[in-house]
Amino acid sequence: MAEFGCAKCYGEDERAVWGRQREGFEHEAEVVDGSRFAVNLRRCLGCSQRFVWIFTEVVDWMGGDDAQYVTIMPVTAEEATGLRSGTLRPHALGALGRDRRHLNHDWPTGGPARLHWRSGRFLVAGAR
Ligand SMILES: [Zn+2]
Repeated sequence: MAEFGCAKCYGEDERAVWGRQREGFEHEAEVVDGSRFAVNLRRCLGCSQRFVWIFTEVVDWMGGDDAQYVTIMPVTAEEATGLRSGTLRPHALGALGRDRRHLNHDWPTGGPARLHWRSGRFLVAGAR
């Protein structure tokens, strides 16, 4: 299993990691720029570890707030390059989760939001 990040960007405390997303990371590249599905690359200002940030909004046709999901997962330099050049497709990111922990912020319609570390493959629902 590969080693990723530092205590600030990949530590056990999910609230600390989530709370640092705005000021603790440098925005590197927009991979998919959409209002309902977005993927971008960020870099930890502490250790330079790259992360992929995946945002998915699921429209609730019954009205009310739409459910929003964010997954934050570390990627290798090679994977980051592949995402930027298009050789690594966003939908393939879910398979990378099988051997690395990723932070999930789930905000289902009607709330409340949940924040937790998870391991294992995941579905990148908005990707084509
Ligand atoms: Zn770090």
